[in-house]
Amino acid sequence: MPQHHKPKRPPSIGFTSLGCPKATSDSERILTQLRAEGYLISSSYQDADVVVVNTCGFIDAAVEESLDAIGEALRETGKVIVTGCLGAREGVIEAAHPAVLAVTGPQATEAVMAAVHAQLPKPHDPYTDLIPPQGVRLTPNHYAYLKISEGCNHRCSFCIIPSLRGDLVSRPVGEVMHEAETLVKAGVKELLVISQDTSAYGVDVKYRTGFWNGRPLKTRMTELVAALGELGAWVRLHYVYPYPHVDEVIPLMQDGRVLPYLDIPFQHASPRILKLMKRPAAAEKTLDRIQAWRAACPELTLRSTFIVGFPGETEAEFEELLDFLDEAQLDRVGCFAYSPVAGAQANELPGAVPEAVKEARRARFMEKQAEISARRLEAKIGREMTVLVDEIDEEGDAVARSPADAPEIDGVVFIPDAENLKPGEFVKVRITDATEHDLWAEKV
Ligand code: SF4
Repeated sequence: MPQHHKPKRPPSIGFTSLGCPKATSDSERILTQLRAEGYLISSSYQDADVVVVNTCGFIDAAVEESLDAIGEALRETGKVIVTGCLGAREGVIEAAHPAVLAVTGPQATEAVMAAVHAQLPKPHDPYTDLIPPQGVRLTPNHYAYLKISEGCNHRCSFCIIPSLRGDLVSRPVGEVMHEAETLVKAGVKELLVISQDTSAYGVDVKYRTGFWNGRPLKTRMTELVAALGELGAWVRLHYVYPYPHVDEVIPLMQDGRVLPYLDIPFQHASPRILKLMKRPAAAEKTLDRIQAWRAACPELTLRSTFIVGFPGETEAEFEELLDFLDEAQLDRVGCFAYSPVAGAQANELPGAVPEAVKEARRARFMEKQAEISARRLEAKIGREMTVLVDEIDEEGDAVARSPADAPEIDGVVFIPDAENLKPGEFVKVRITDATEHDLWAEKV
């Protein structure tokens, strides 16, 4: 009788993904390629033949977390390939962990694959085997990040992303549309458009005309967003700067083609601080622009992030920021106390603000915004809206999001006793209650 051998299992790769949505998107590409070539993805170190760690180098805490993750993977498996933003910082990883097999920067699928191949030959050819056409994603099935460009042409003084990722490189518009279409066909209900500066899409290629399904399409934010709006999924825009041409997407929001939601990282309101920060569009008349947008699209939700305690920020300049909050009435706001990032220009600015002052300002800022947010959410009680269900929690309540809520960073809409709903389902609800951040609703 022929002897049956247990088939040899394909090589298995462990994966640790740290960092921002842009890093997640890089991880998804690498994972997709690994699966395409027949590697197994292992969820534990014990089964992993090699571990890939996708790192973040943005702030010192992220650097530490990345170095710790590499250390742990090395201890457990001895075979580690490092990729991501921290990898782009010369010598940092090699100095801390000389035993790593290879180090690459962000957006380096090919280099990571070459390092994997050097350790473990590929089990099969991706062109002859099966992989879901939408690739492998780390986000739940019903929403996906769509990265439209990489790098940034700005040089904000607190940021080292341009030195890590280089100048803006826009992805071809046809490729972005193809990816978006594939995602929607695979069941994605919400596309989250991300980049370092979404409003700058196409600047590097002079808004070149590309093609999508044989139709000419400009490599430009307005045209891209209008085309995405035809796919039938929610389209949400992140990291937009308040340039004049952003006005063009507001009618698309008012028509319901794109979610009436803009994530604009204003970072400050004092012209002097914005200048020190070297922020893009710092000279634009932001409050006028916000007013005009709201007049054209009353449903518009504005989300933003701010930094308080930037070097040299005076009490008067901080108060200017609080006044701006009062005037702008933003819906969603994140606030960070300034923390120096190794290698950033802003570290050389005079007038470091003491930690205690920074923290006190952050608390005052958040208190003011909490009041604004609570008022704005309360005004929604009694209104009807469509929400997208993310999950059903242990108590049987549905946790959903309205057009005003981006996943992970904004609030949610709870629908009590909704076991019959499913993640990824759109539901019409009436808002019944509100807190500072979240809403409660019932099905209508
Ligand atoms: S816009 Fe400024 S903060 Fe954003 S990535 Fe570019 S340089 Fe950094």
